[in-house]
Amino acid sequence: MKIYLKDLQEDRAFVRDEEVDPADLDINVGIMSFPGPIRLRVEAWKSKDGLTVSARVEGDRRLVCSLCLEEFNNLFEKDITLHYDIKGLDSVIVDAEVRDEIILEHPIRAVCRAGCKGLCPSCGANLNRETCRCKSKAF
Ligand SMILES: [Zn+2]
Ligand SMILES: [Zn+2]
Repeated sequence: MKIYLKDLQEDRAFVRDEEVDPADLDINVGIMSFPGPIRLRVEAWKSKDGLTVSARVEGDRRLVCSLCLEEFNNLFEKDITLHYDIKGLDSVIVDAEVRDEIILEHPIRAVCRAGCKGLCPSCGANLNRETCRCKSKAF
């Protein structure tokens, strides 16, 4: 999202809602992906030299379970506050900072549900859905 500073008045917040294509933000990384558009709502205030941007990011997120390797949906929501030095600028693009804030929320580990049984280490069966025979053989 590009904010033109001429659109902002000193004493009033500038508000804009935009839908952003996750591919444009390059946020489908690792075990995290966004199947649909991201909603970006921005409120911006201009002071003498600075711009303060308060942004809310919302979207459906898909994660891969670290235990059973199945994908599951997870709502992504984050509030972000950004400050820009606007001396000599006529516009500000917030995309890079918004991207960084979303990437920061990439989990190291994700679990699809409490009590996910994961995969059998010997045959790879998804133990949430089936019982394999490995266990009975081992004992
Ligand atoms: Zn799982
Ligand atoms: Zn097994």
